[in-house]
Amino acid sequence: MAAEIISGTEMARTIREELRIGVEEFKRSVGRPPGLATVLVGSDPASQAYVRMKKRAAVDLGMYSRQIELDREITEDELLGWIEGLNADPDIHGILVQLPLPPQIRKNRILEAIHPAKDVDGFHPINVGRMAVGDPAALAPCTPLGVVEMLVRSGIQTRGRHAVVVGRSDIVGKPMGSMLLGTGPGGDATVTVTHILTQDLASHTRMADILIVAAGHPSLITADMVKPGVVVIDVGVNRVADSSREKGYRLTGDVAFDEVREVASVITPVPGGVGPMTIAMLMSNTLKAARSLNRAMA
Ligand code: NAP
Repeated sequence: MAAEIISGTEMARTIREELRIGVEEFKRSVGRPPGLATVLVGSDPASQAYVRMKKRAAVDLGMYSRQIELDREITEDELLGWIEGLNADPDIHGILVQLPLPPQIRKNRILEAIHPAKDVDGFHPINVGRMAVGDPAALAPCTPLGVVEMLVRSGIQTRGRHAVVVGRSDIVGKPMGSMLLGTGPGGDATVTVTHILTQDLASHTRMADILIVAAGHPSLITADMVKPGVVVIDVGVNRVADSSREKGYRLTGDVAFDEVREVASVITPVPGGVGPMTIAMLMSNTLKAARSLNRAMA
């Protein structure tokens, strides 16, 4: 029987409705909305599209949104000046610098300059550390946070089960492993994290009760690489050429969806799976940051 499909689009809609109430309450008690600043350097079309989606989501929830667009040739010091300004701005509770950055700018220097309390992407080392030790005050990275939310809201038990993560990036794979290993809902799993040097990837993925794939390779995971009944969460977003589409491409995940669906019990689609959840978690982090900054000022 084909797997049940978890719709990230539907789930994110529900989360947004919950957040909308929280944003209203915040506005009523504080007198101003939670504020999110997005910083875009250069004019990469994919980055522009991501920033547009984030801005739209914030505005739709009644948040204040400021979009800062900077020339690709900007220096690191100039960009640091913008971050300092946003760190000091009381209308801004969340700062997001859209990655990737041009080569003259050291990504880590920028990410570390964002005040940890406004680091809604959860990439600052303070938040990475807090998340790793299970501190609930941590602002955790939005994509793995979205995956955990999907598992919990779908009633998928992680406790004591074997979760295999494909990919070890700082923004998805590593924090994903850390969250699954942590205690509480969405955690308490036995975790394997794989990467490009992992030998015989299929021998690991076949052991998974829950398989989370974030490699950036279309159709990396095929039906013969999973065991019957596995829960598959596909984080990958890849552009593959498709002349039947107006844009000349379509988006696809890292999992060969049609064939893996026949073996799995639960699977997420691409698009419409983890992507919308990531944006919902960014909004959730912005509200969380606004509340905690407001508490700290009281
Ligand atoms: P990344 O930084 O390129 O990392 C990819 C990871 O996958 C690396 O750790 C790499 O190993 C590993 N890998 C690549 N090929 C592999 C293979 N054949 N076998 C095992 N491991 C392999 O990418 P990322 O930022 O984590 O993103 C991963 C994917 O998720 C991309 O498609 C991206 O577009 C997507 N994504 C989606 C969302 C969303 O909201 N839906 C958010 C973020 C990312 P090494 O470290 O050894 O090189």
